[in-house]
Amino acid sequence: MSGGFGHVLRKTGSLVPAALTRGFARPVALFFHGVEHRIDDSRAQSNHHDIASFSKIVRVLKDNFDVLPLSMLDEVLSAPLRHRRSVFLMADDGYANNLSVAQAVLQEFNLPWTIFLSTHHVDTTERNPAFLARLFFLFAPSAKYDIANLHAQITLDDGQNRAAAADLWVGRLKALDAGRAQAALDSMRAQFEGLDALAGRYASDAFLTWPEVAALKADGVEIGAHAHWHWPMHGAQTPEYLGEQARLSRARIEAEIGPCRYFAYPFGNTQDIGREAWRAVRDAGYDYAFTTLSGSLDASTNRWLMPRYGLALHEKRLPALVPWLSAGNSRLRAWQRQMAG
Ligand SMILES: [Zn+2]
Repeated sequence: MSGGFGHVLRKTGSLVPAALTRGFARPVALFFHGVEHRIDDSRAQSNHHDIASFSKIVRVLKDNFDVLPLSMLDEVLSAPLRHRRSVFLMADDGYANNLSVAQAVLQEFNLPWTIFLSTHHVDTTERNPAFLARLFFLFAPSAKYDIANLHAQITLDDGQNRAAAADLWVGRLKALDAGRAQAALDSMRAQFEGLDALAGRYASDAFLTWPEVAALKADGVEIGAHAHWHWPMHGAQTPEYLGEQARLSRARIEAEIGPCRYFAYPFGNTQDIGREAWRAVRDAGYDYAFTTLSGSLDASTNRWLMPRYGLALHEKRLPALVPWLSAGNSRLRAWQRQMAG
């Protein structure tokens, strides 16, 4: 869920004493997905923290940083050196457990946060397509499968490492444009009839309803957009698709909840965001958009490609790691230059 460069920073950051990194400290954005009272199957529920580890993370944030509402981002960016300990906390996708579990913890610590919703899933209750595909590769009966647009001969059997197969094939699936990916998912459903019913049994991956989003908003949680359908906005997508994902998610939130100023890209890494994607997000009227590249917020040269770090399920050295995130800044800026061209 938060591999790549973030993983490298986590490993190197854990070797550096907190006192040494304090001088590098800059404002950052951190995110998670869901929080559950108990995780029954960590392979399938890989997006969710258990409440004990989440509470530990939240306590460390409360004790070591200034966790601020996203409405203060302009002010923080205007004077980043006066806001070295500022952290903006966010959750992606819009899982129902954001209300039933995460909000209870964050309210206890009195910390502000932002939820980015994939609005199609709130509208329909349909599960995240990457989650459905992951369940297919984890649990489809042993057989050879011919999956449209993916591969004609995928062998799944009981002896293999299904989690590794899921990582590999879901990764390939994510490279497809939305239409081809949808056809691949339909093909998985046709060959594993119990797929949707199985997904339905994981309450952890149910999305919020609009009344639940309204309840979070009433509690002071900021509501941003995470596209309409939860799928990458990379260069394989048409300009029409990208424009619709940016506009429709904002329109749904504004119709149901109120003003929507912020966006976060689904998956959000370099391979998930095309050159046209951030322009579509800018043109849809958002003030800021967040990726999942590591870096500090003040280093960003493009307000629609802001850096963000995905919290691992267990974070042992957050006070040292958070200042260390600025080690990603040169990579962030180089990518932003490429994306400007
Ligand atoms: Zn997401």
